[in-house]
Amino acid sequence: MAEKSQIQGAQVKIGHYILGETLGTGTFGKVKIAVHQRTNHKVAVKILNRQKIKSLDVVGKIRREIQNLKLFRHPHVIKLYEVMSTPTDIFMVMEYVPGGELFDYIVKHGKLKEPEARRFFQQIISGVDYCHRHMVVHRDLKPENLLLDANLNVKIADFGLSNMMHDGEFLRTSCGSPNYAAPEVISGKLYAGPEVDIWSCGVILYALLCGTLPFDDEHVPTLFRKIKSGIFAIPDYLNKEVVGLLCLMLQVDPLKRSSIKDIREHDWFKHDLPDYLFPLPTDQDASIVDVEVVKEVCDKFGVEEYEVHRAMLGGDPHDQLNIAYHLILDNKRIMDEKGDYFCASDAEMKEFYLASSPPADSFLMSRYPHLSVGSPPQDQASSPLRPHPERMPGIRSQSKPQDIMHEVYRAMKTLDYASSPLRPHPERMPGIRSQSKPQDIMHEVYRAMKTLDM
Ligand code: ADP
Repeated sequence: MAEKSQIQGAQVKIGHYILGETLGTGTFGKVKIAVHQRTNHKVAVKILNRQKIKSLDVVGKIRREIQNLKLFRHPHVIKLYEVMSTPTDIFMVMEYVPGGELFDYIVKHGKLKEPEARRFFQQIISGVDYCHRHMVVHRDLKPENLLLDANLNVKIADFGLSNMMHDGEFLRTSCGSPNYAAPEVISGKLYAGPEVDIWSCGVILYALLCGTLPFDDEHVPTLFRKIKSGIFAIPDYLNKEVVGLLCLMLQVDPLKRSSIKDIREHDWFKHDLPDYLFPLPTDQDASIVDVEVVKEVCDKFGVEEYEVHRAMLGGDPHDQLNIAYHLILDNKRIMDEKGDYFCASDAEMKEFYLASSPPADSFLMSRYPHLSVGSPPQDQASSPLRPHPERMPGIRSQSKPQDIMHEVYRAMKTLDYASSPLRPHPERMPGIRSQSKPQDIMHEVYRAMKTLDM
């Protein structure tokens, strides 16, 4: 694999891409722009140093997960084109967007007007919903992960990345901005279902509307107390409707927190909602297996047809072959001209959904003529949206043994939870933990205890 990255003259090449300047530095390493040597197509390459993330498992079961992430197609989710590795680094070749971070935009423009905030928020929820439906929870939604394209559309980055890491590793490295983390996450709970993304989206919505964070404090333990209390200031200028939505999303109890379905049904959210963000489900009979799609899964994963059938019959929604089948089916439906995936199915809609970015003169932009792409401001260090830089607490290491044991108990209970008739939100997709096999849970326990040096 070493030939994937080579130095030619002064140029560093990753596959067919020539690496350029650094776009930014994230938790795990640098993100660089790169251009395809023949087509000049620009991409962003995330360089993950293997030394830094020893436990990033790209050779084991995670390989299927990455294979699936490459099938994700959504206009508001950064596409992952390819993952390459050398003995020292892992390179993730992704869709490049030139507009910088959404939060730099807020820092520059101040709190946004309600229609503009809603437009961004609708796009974020659409992308998050798509990933949740394909069994991927982000777990680390934060300003650095919300990028803008040339037409001020939001693109969510790093979906799936947190799942490639073992939980201990993830929590140690990802708490640079705990302001966006759900109470159960900062409490070091092992469970990380879709509810944690809903909380982060609530914090993001607040930041869009107010230009400040709902929970903030220089002193980390105080910040954590504030997050766990769920009490936040409600400025007078906020419309009552949106306050209602914020309160539903920033519910400390994850079971009481609104689901994506609740958000989609909320009046404030529904206002001016473009159809393409939530395409109508097809009325196709789910029991009919598409043999072409099964064949494609076999080609992509190097498995036999019976393995795909077994995965589908097994009914485990987290099985990677099962997920692959549904992703490919989804993509095929969009491509299929006769399909009625969209309520207003036409070529323009299809192009819009599959293209790397919505077209410049799309109906969305004509609705918001005042929007303009701004370059990131020079001084962001003192922004109320930026977490305090000195903060890097190791959440996992603060867990007490009894908390870990409590987690084990909860994890075990969760195994029954998915099918319980008492479940308050039956429509809510069970989180990545809820359908884990007992041996996986015990493996989690073992790892958690090891992390604590027990
Ligand atoms: P983090 O690990 O903190 O989430 P990332 O490593 O994802 O951050 O990205 C660091 C910075 O690199 C981002 O804030 C952004 O400015 C830039 N960046 C990341 N991905 C892209 C992309 N696909 N297109 C353009 N810029 C990007």
